[in-house]
Amino acid sequence: MNVPLLDLKAQYATLKKDMLPAIEAVLDSQYFIGGPVVQELEEKIAEYSQTKAAVGVSSGTDALLASLMSLNIGPGDEVITTPYTFFATAGSIWRVGAKPVFVDIEPDTYNIDTTKIAAAITKKTKAIMPVHLYGQMADMDPILALAKQHNLHVIEDAAQAIGSAQNGRKAGSFGTVGCFSFFPSKNLGGLGDGGMVVTRDEALAERLRECRNHGSHPKYYHKWVGANFRLDAIQAAGLLVKFKHLEAWHAARRANAAKYDALFADVAEITTPVVREYNQTIYNQYVIRVPNRDACIAFLKENNIGCEIYYPVAMHVQECFAPLGHKPDDFPEAEKASRETLALPIYPELTGEQLNYVAEKVIEFVKA
Ligand SMILES: *Cc1c(COP(=O)(O)O)cnc(C)c1O
Repeated sequence: MNVPLLDLKAQYATLKKDMLPAIEAVLDSQYFIGGPVVQELEEKIAEYSQTKAAVGVSSGTDALLASLMSLNIGPGDEVITTPYTFFATAGSIWRVGAKPVFVDIEPDTYNIDTTKIAAAITKKTKAIMPVHLYGQMADMDPILALAKQHNLHVIEDAAQAIGSAQNGRKAGSFGTVGCFSFFPSKNLGGLGDGGMVVTRDEALAERLRECRNHGSHPKYYHKWVGANFRLDAIQAAGLLVKFKHLEAWHAARRANAAKYDALFADVAEITTPVVREYNQTIYNQYVIRVPNRDACIAFLKENNIGCEIYYPVAMHVQECFAPLGHKPDDFPEAEKASRETLALPIYPELTGEQLNYVAEKVIEFVKA
Protein backbone atom coordinates (compact mmCIF):
# COMPACT_ATOMS: atom_id res chain seq x y z
CA MET A 1 0.00 0.00 0.00
CA ASN A 2 1.04 3.57 -0.69
CA VAL A 3 -0.24 6.42 1.50
CA PRO A 4 0.89 9.96 0.67
CA LEU A 5 0.90 12.67 3.35
CA LEU A 6 -1.67 14.55 1.29
CA ASP A 7 -3.52 13.47 -1.87
CA LEU A 8 -4.70 16.55 -3.73
CA LYS A 9 -5.32 14.51 -6.90
CA ALA A 10 -7.98 12.47 -5.08
CA GLN A 11 -9.65 15.72 -4.03
CA TYR A 12 -9.41 17.26 -7.50
CA ALA A 13 -11.10 14.22 -9.04
CA THR A 14 -14.23 15.10 -7.07
CA LEU A 15 -14.06 18.80 -8.06
CA LYS A 16 -13.03 18.75 -11.70
CA LYS A 17 -16.53 19.03 -13.17
CA ASP A 18 -17.19 22.22 -11.17
CA MET A 19 -13.67 23.61 -11.28
CA LEU A 20 -13.18 23.78 -15.04
CA PRO A 21 -16.34 25.86 -15.79
CA ALA A 22 -15.50 28.22 -12.90
CA ILE A 23 -12.02 28.83 -14.31
CA GLU A 24 -13.42 29.15 -17.81
CA ALA A 25 -15.82 31.86 -16.62
CA VAL A 26 -12.86 33.90 -15.36
CA LEU A 27 -11.05 33.37 -18.65
CA ASP A 28 -14.13 34.49 -20.57
CA SER A 29 -14.40 37.61 -18.39
CA GLN A 30 -10.69 38.43 -18.77
CA TYR A 31 -11.01 40.08 -15.35
CA PHE A 32 -7.95 38.63 -13.62
CA ILE A 33 -7.05 40.84 -10.66
CA GLY A 34 -9.59 41.59 -7.95
CA GLY A 35 -13.12 42.12 -9.31
CA PRO A 36 -16.45 40.44 -8.58
CA VAL A 37 -15.20 36.88 -8.08
CA VAL A 38 -12.63 38.01 -5.51
CA GLN A 39 -15.31 40.09 -3.82
CA GLU A 40 -17.69 37.14 -3.66
CA LEU A 41 -15.01 35.05 -1.94
CA GLU A 42 -14.24 37.91 0.48
CA GLU A 43 -17.92 38.17 1.45
CA LYS A 44 -18.18 34.41 2.01
CA ILE A 45 -15.02 34.24 4.13
CA ALA A 46 -15.99 37.30 6.20
CA GLU A 47 -19.31 35.67 7.02
CA TYR A 48 -17.78 32.24 7.61
CA SER A 49 -15.19 33.63 10.01
CA GLN A 50 -17.77 35.73 11.91
CA THR A 51 -16.04 39.00 11.00
CA LYS A 52 -17.18 42.11 9.12
CA ALA A 53 -14.68 42.36 6.31
CA ALA A 54 -12.23 40.19 4.42
CA VAL A 55 -9.42 41.39 2.18
CA GLY A 56 -8.04 38.91 -0.33
CA VAL A 57 -4.26 38.96 -0.65
CA SER A 58 -1.52 37.10 -2.50
CA SER A 59 -0.57 34.61 0.25
CA GLY A 60 -0.81 33.85 3.95
CA THR A 61 2.61 35.43 4.35
CA ASP A 62 1.37 38.61 2.69
CA ALA A 63 -1.73 38.54 4.91
CA LEU A 64 0.61 38.77 7.92
CA LEU A 65 2.83 41.35 6.25
CA ALA A 66 -0.05 43.56 5.11
CA SER A 67 -1.55 43.37 8.61
CA LEU A 68 1.68 44.50 10.26
CA MET A 69 2.14 47.29 7.68
CA SER A 70 -1.46 48.46 8.00
CA LEU A 71 -1.11 48.59 11.79
CA ASN A 72 2.04 50.71 11.45
CA ILE A 73 4.28 48.15 13.12
CA GLY A 74 7.93 48.56 12.14
CA PRO A 75 11.44 49.42 13.29
CA GLY A 76 11.77 49.78 17.06
CA ASP A 77 8.64 47.71 17.71
CA GLU A 78 8.37 44.25 19.21
CA VAL A 79 5.86 41.53 18.38
CA ILE A 80 5.40 38.55 20.70
CA THR A 81 4.99 35.20 18.99
CA THR A 82 5.79 31.49 19.14
CA PRO A 83 9.14 30.00 18.11
CA TYR A 84 7.39 26.83 16.89
CA THR A 85 5.59 27.67 13.66
CA PHE A 86 6.04 27.99 9.93
CA PHE A 87 8.73 30.54 9.09
CA ALA A 88 6.33 33.20 7.73
CA THR A 89 5.12 34.11 11.23
CA ALA A 90 8.47 35.36 12.49
CA GLY A 91 9.68 36.23 8.98
CA SER A 92 6.91 38.76 8.41
CA ILE A 93 7.68 40.49 11.73
CA TRP A 94 11.35 40.68 10.75
CA ARG A 95 10.54 41.96 7.27
CA VAL A 96 8.71 45.05 8.54
CA GLY A 97 11.80 45.80 10.64
CA ALA A 98 10.23 44.84 13.97
CA LYS A 99 11.67 42.35 16.43
CA PRO A 100 10.07 38.94 16.95
CA VAL A 101 10.02 38.18 20.69
CA PHE A 102 9.53 34.49 21.28
CA VAL A 103 7.57 32.82 24.06
CA ASP A 104 7.81 29.04 24.49
CA ILE A 105 4.96 26.64 23.68
CA GLU A 106 2.74 24.31 25.68
CA PRO A 107 4.11 20.78 25.32
CA ASP A 108 0.70 19.21 24.69
CA THR A 109 -1.00 21.59 22.22
CA TYR A 110 2.23 23.05 20.73
CA ASN A 111 0.59 26.50 20.89
CA ILE A 112 2.07 29.55 22.63
CA ASP A 113 2.16 29.19 26.43
CA THR A 114 0.02 32.13 27.47
CA THR A 115 1.27 32.00 31.08
CA LYS A 116 4.67 33.14 29.79
CA ILE A 117 3.52 36.08 27.65
CA ALA A 118 3.29 38.76 30.37
CA ALA A 119 7.00 38.45 31.19
CA ALA A 120 7.86 39.15 27.55
CA ILE A 121 5.91 42.42 27.29
CA THR A 122 8.03 45.60 27.21
CA LYS A 123 7.41 49.27 26.37
CA LYS A 124 8.23 48.40 22.75
CA THR A 125 5.63 45.62 22.41
CA LYS A 126 3.00 46.51 19.81
CA ALA A 127 1.28 43.21 19.15
CA ILE A 128 0.88 39.56 20.07
CA MET A 129 0.84 37.14 17.13
CA PRO A 130 -0.46 33.75 18.29
CA VAL A 131 -0.44 30.88 15.80
CA HIS A 132 -3.27 28.34 15.76
CA LEU A 133 -0.95 25.46 15.09
CA TYR A 134 -2.10 22.38 13.15
CA GLY A 135 -5.59 23.90 13.13
CA GLN A 136 -6.12 24.15 16.89
CA MET A 137 -6.63 27.62 18.32
CA ALA A 138 -4.29 29.11 20.91
CA ASP A 139 -5.93 29.96 24.24
CA MET A 140 -7.36 33.37 23.34
CA ASP A 141 -8.88 34.61 26.63
CA PRO A 142 -5.55 35.32 28.38
CA ILE A 143 -4.09 36.73 25.14
CA LEU A 144 -6.99 39.15 24.71
CA ALA A 145 -6.83 40.13 28.40
CA LEU A 146 -3.11 40.95 28.16
CA ALA A 147 -3.64 42.82 24.90
CA LYS A 148 -6.36 44.93 26.47
CA GLN A 149 -4.32 45.62 29.59
CA HIS A 150 -1.24 46.72 27.60
CA ASN A 151 -3.04 48.24 24.59
CA LEU A 152 -1.63 45.74 22.08
CA HIS A 153 -2.93 44.47 18.78
CA VAL A 154 -3.61 40.77 18.35
CA ILE A 155 -2.72 39.37 14.94
CA GLU A 156 -4.02 35.83 14.66
CA ASP A 157 -1.88 33.67 12.41
CA ALA A 158 -4.81 31.48 11.44
CA ALA A 159 -3.07 30.21 8.29
CA GLN A 160 -3.71 26.60 9.35
CA ALA A 161 -7.02 27.26 11.08
CA ILE A 162 -9.77 28.55 8.78
CA GLY A 163 -13.07 27.32 10.26
CA SER A 164 -11.51 26.35 13.58
CA ALA A 165 -13.31 27.68 16.67
CA GLN A 166 -13.01 28.28 20.41
CA ASN A 167 -16.23 28.04 22.40
CA GLY A 168 -18.03 28.29 19.07
CA ARG A 169 -16.31 31.50 18.04
CA LYS A 170 -14.28 31.30 14.84
CA ALA A 171 -10.54 31.70 14.36
CA GLY A 172 -9.76 35.13 12.96
CA SER A 173 -12.63 36.84 14.81
CA PHE A 174 -10.79 37.25 18.13
CA GLY A 175 -7.91 39.50 17.15
CA THR A 176 -7.54 42.92 15.58
CA VAL A 177 -7.04 40.86 12.42
CA GLY A 178 -6.98 37.19 11.45
CA CYS A 179 -4.76 35.89 8.65
CA PHE A 180 -5.60 32.90 6.47
CA SER A 181 -3.49 31.07 3.89
CA PHE A 182 -4.79 29.30 0.81
CA PHE A 183 -1.53 27.45 0.21
CA PRO A 184 -2.59 24.17 -1.44
CA SER A 185 -1.87 22.04 1.66
CA LYS A 186 -4.12 24.08 3.95
CA ASN A 187 -7.69 22.87 4.62
CA LEU A 188 -8.93 25.42 2.06
CA GLY A 189 -6.19 25.34 -0.54
CA GLY A 190 -6.06 27.32 -3.77
CA LEU A 191 -4.67 26.53 -7.20
CA GLY A 192 -1.49 28.32 -6.21
CA ASP A 193 -0.71 31.00 -3.64
CA GLY A 194 -3.38 33.08 -1.96
CA GLY A 195 -4.43 34.44 1.41
CA MET A 196 -6.93 36.62 3.23
CA VAL A 197 -7.10 39.03 6.14
CA VAL A 198 -10.33 39.23 8.14
CA THR A 199 -11.31 41.93 10.63
CA ARG A 200 -14.27 43.40 12.47
CA ASP A 201 -12.82 46.91 11.94
CA GLU A 202 -14.10 48.43 8.67
CA ALA A 203 -11.58 51.29 8.74
CA LEU A 204 -8.72 48.83 9.11
CA ALA A 205 -10.16 46.77 6.23
CA GLU A 206 -10.01 49.90 4.06
CA ARG A 207 -6.38 50.41 5.05
CA LEU A 208 -5.63 46.78 4.18
CA ARG A 209 -7.25 47.29 0.76
CA GLU A 210 -4.96 50.27 0.21
CA CYS A 211 -1.99 48.30 1.47
CA ARG A 212 -2.47 45.47 -1.04
CA ASN A 213 -2.54 48.08 -3.82
CA HIS A 214 0.65 50.08 -3.10
CA GLY A 215 -1.09 52.25 -0.51
CA SER A 216 -3.02 54.02 -3.23
CA HIS A 217 -6.27 55.90 -2.60
CA PRO A 218 -7.60 57.13 -4.90
CA LYS A 219 -5.75 55.44 -7.73
CA TYR A 220 -2.30 56.98 -8.38
CA TYR A 221 -2.39 58.97 -5.12
CA HIS A 222 -0.20 57.50 -2.39
CA LYS A 223 -0.29 58.75 1.19
CA TRP A 224 1.72 55.75 2.31
CA VAL A 225 3.68 52.86 0.81
CA GLY A 226 2.05 49.44 0.47
CA ALA A 227 2.88 46.75 -2.05
CA ASN A 228 1.28 44.46 -4.61
CA PHE A 229 -0.49 41.96 -2.36
CA ARG A 230 -3.52 41.36 -4.62
CA LEU A 231 -5.46 38.12 -5.05
CA ASP A 232 -6.12 36.74 -8.54
CA ALA A 233 -9.66 36.06 -9.78
CA ILE A 234 -8.65 32.56 -10.92
CA GLN A 235 -7.60 31.75 -7.35
CA ALA A 236 -10.85 33.14 -5.98
CA ALA A 237 -12.88 31.11 -8.50
CA GLY A 238 -11.09 27.90 -7.53
CA LEU A 239 -11.46 28.67 -3.83
CA LEU A 240 -15.20 29.32 -4.21
CA VAL A 241 -15.62 25.85 -5.72
CA LYS A 242 -13.68 24.28 -2.83
CA PHE A 243 -15.31 26.41 -0.14
CA LYS A 244 -18.62 24.53 -0.60
CA HIS A 245 -16.89 21.37 0.63
CA LEU A 246 -14.90 22.86 3.48
CA GLU A 247 -17.16 21.80 6.36
CA ALA A 248 -17.40 18.24 5.00
CA TRP A 249 -13.60 18.11 4.68
CA HIS A 250 -13.14 19.36 8.25
CA ALA A 251 -15.58 16.66 9.42
CA ALA A 252 -13.70 13.95 7.51
CA ARG A 253 -10.39 15.08 9.05
CA ARG A 254 -11.96 15.00 12.53
CA ALA A 255 -13.28 11.50 11.90
CA ASN A 256 -9.83 10.37 10.78
CA ALA A 257 -8.28 11.92 13.89
CA ALA A 258 -10.79 10.07 16.09
CA LYS A 259 -9.86 6.77 14.39
CA TYR A 260 -6.13 7.33 14.96
CA ASP A 261 -6.82 8.39 18.57
CA ALA A 262 -8.69 5.14 19.17
CA LEU A 263 -6.06 2.96 17.48
CA PHE A 264 -3.24 4.61 19.47
CA ALA A 265 -5.14 4.84 22.76
CA ASP A 266 -3.43 1.88 24.42
CA VAL A 267 0.01 2.49 22.98
CA ALA A 268 1.98 4.27 25.69
CA GLU A 269 4.89 5.10 23.36
CA ILE A 270 2.72 7.29 21.12
CA THR A 271 1.56 10.72 22.29
CA THR A 272 -1.54 11.71 20.35
CA PRO A 273 -2.73 15.31 19.82
CA VAL A 274 -4.35 16.99 22.82
CA VAL A 275 -7.37 19.15 21.98
CA ARG A 276 -8.60 21.52 24.68
CA GLU A 277 -12.26 21.00 25.62
CA TYR A 278 -13.12 24.55 24.51
CA ASN A 279 -11.63 24.07 21.02
CA GLN A 280 -13.35 22.79 17.89
CA THR A 281 -10.31 22.01 15.76
CA ILE A 282 -9.91 21.28 12.04
CA TYR A 283 -6.81 19.01 12.04
CA ASN A 284 -4.79 20.69 9.33
CA GLN A 285 -2.19 18.26 10.64
CA TYR A 286 -2.34 15.22 12.93
CA VAL A 287 0.91 15.37 14.87
CA ILE A 288 2.19 12.68 17.23
CA ARG A 289 5.23 12.33 19.46
CA VAL A 290 7.22 9.09 19.30
CA PRO A 291 10.55 7.83 20.64
CA ASN A 292 13.29 7.70 17.96
CA ARG A 293 11.32 10.01 15.72
CA ASP A 294 13.83 10.08 12.84
CA ALA A 295 14.06 6.27 12.72
CA CYS A 296 10.26 6.13 12.79
CA ILE A 297 10.06 8.42 9.76
CA ALA A 298 12.62 6.29 7.90
CA PHE A 299 10.58 3.16 8.72
CA LEU A 300 7.32 4.75 7.55
CA LYS A 301 8.96 5.94 4.31
CA GLU A 302 10.28 2.41 3.68
CA ASN A 303 6.67 1.30 3.97
CA ASN A 304 5.49 3.93 1.47
CA ILE A 305 3.85 6.15 4.06
CA GLY A 306 4.18 9.91 3.65
CA CYS A 307 4.96 11.83 6.81
CA GLU A 308 6.60 15.14 7.61
CA ILE A 309 8.22 17.08 10.41
CA TYR A 310 6.41 20.35 11.26
CA TYR A 311 8.90 21.82 12.13
CA PRO A 312 12.46 20.47 12.30
CA VAL A 313 14.10 23.80 13.19
CA ALA A 314 12.50 26.19 15.69
CA MET A 315 12.52 29.88 14.83
CA HIS A 316 14.90 31.00 17.59
CA VAL A 317 17.67 28.79 16.20
CA GLN A 318 17.18 29.73 12.53
CA GLU A 319 20.42 31.08 11.07
CA CYS A 320 18.76 34.28 9.83
CA PHE A 321 17.65 35.14 13.38
CA ALA A 322 21.16 34.73 14.87
CA PRO A 323 21.24 38.50 15.55
CA LEU A 324 18.54 37.88 18.21
CA GLY A 325 21.24 35.98 20.13
CA HIS A 326 19.20 32.97 21.22
CA LYS A 327 20.55 29.64 22.46
CA PRO A 328 18.71 26.38 21.62
CA ASP A 329 17.50 25.85 25.21
CA ASP A 330 16.00 29.34 25.49
CA PHE A 331 12.72 27.68 24.45
CA PRO A 332 13.09 24.05 25.53
CA GLU A 333 9.56 22.90 24.66
CA ALA A 334 9.87 24.20 21.10
CA GLU A 335 13.27 22.51 20.81
CA LYS A 336 11.89 19.24 22.14
CA ALA A 337 8.87 19.32 19.82
CA SER A 338 11.14 19.89 16.82
CA ARG A 339 13.02 16.67 17.73
CA GLU A 340 10.13 14.41 18.76
CA THR A 341 7.09 15.04 16.57
CA LEU A 342 5.85 13.95 13.16
CA ALA A 343 2.69 14.48 11.12
CA LEU A 344 0.70 11.53 9.74
CA PRO A 345 -1.67 11.54 6.75
CA ILE A 346 -5.05 12.97 7.85
CA TYR A 347 -6.51 14.33 4.60
CA PRO A 348 -10.28 13.87 4.03
CA GLU A 349 -9.97 11.36 1.17
CA LEU A 350 -7.79 8.98 3.22
CA THR A 351 -9.53 5.59 3.18
CA GLY A 352 -10.14 3.50 6.30
CA GLU A 353 -7.81 0.87 4.88
CA GLN A 354 -5.02 3.39 4.37
CA LEU A 355 -5.50 4.84 7.86
CA ASN A 356 -5.38 1.39 9.47
CA TYR A 357 -2.19 0.60 7.55
CA VAL A 358 -0.52 3.83 8.77
CA ALA A 359 -1.53 3.19 12.38
CA GLU A 360 -0.39 -0.45 12.16
CA LYS A 361 3.05 0.56 10.88
CA VAL A 362 3.56 3.27 13.52
CA ILE A 363 2.62 0.78 16.25
CA GLU A 364 4.87 -1.88 14.71
CA PHE A 365 7.78 0.59 14.86
CA VAL A 366 7.31 1.75 18.44
CA LYS A 367 6.84 -1.84 19.70
CA ALA A 368 9.96 -3.17 17.93
C1 LIG B 1 1.16 28.34 5.62
C2 LIG B 1 1.47 29.25 6.76
C3 LIG B 1 1.78 30.61 6.58
C4 LIG B 1 2.06 31.22 5.25
O1 LIG B 1 1.12 31.04 4.28
P1 LIG B 1 1.54 31.10 2.73
O2 LIG B 1 0.24 31.17 2.05
O3 LIG B 1 2.32 29.86 2.43
O4 LIG B 1 2.36 32.32 2.51
C5 LIG B 1 1.94 31.39 7.71
N1 LIG B 1 1.84 30.89 8.94
C6 LIG B 1 1.57 29.59 9.16
C7 LIG B 1 1.43 29.09 10.56
C8 LIG B 1 1.39 28.73 8.08
O5 LIG B 1 1.15 27.43 8.30
